[in-house]
Amino acid sequence: MADEEISFPVINLEECKGCQRCIVGCPQNAILLSDEMNNAGYQYAYYSGYGCTGCKDCYFTCPEPLALEVHQFKKVVDDKVGKMIKAKVANKGGK
Ligand code: SF4
Ligand code: SF4
Repeated sequence: MADEEISFPVINLEECKGCQRCIVGCPQNAILLSDEMNNAGYQYAYYSGYGCTGCKDCYFTCPEPLALEVHQFKKVVDDKVGKMIKAKVANKGGK
């Protein structure tokens, strides 16, 4: 079995004050600034959807306690099942 880690920032748009610290601090340039404003009148940060490595720099640089979290999951990849599927596909191809 092998573990595959999936990470991404979750930004609470209504708590974000648009200071852009997370945008400047992200080494992957994975956070962007919206053209739109939240209800408090700030342009808010949002995740581009790509590139997060889970380093948490954005979390530690954000001054708003409720604005940004980094979520991390471990996806368990079962190598045995993967090999069985590959073997089946290979056998079918040989017939
Ligand atoms: S956890 Fe790191 S890579 Fe991911 S968005 Fe935050 S600063 Fe960028
Ligand atoms: S650091 Fe926090 S408050 Fe500043 S733009 Fe990013 S999410 Fe918003």
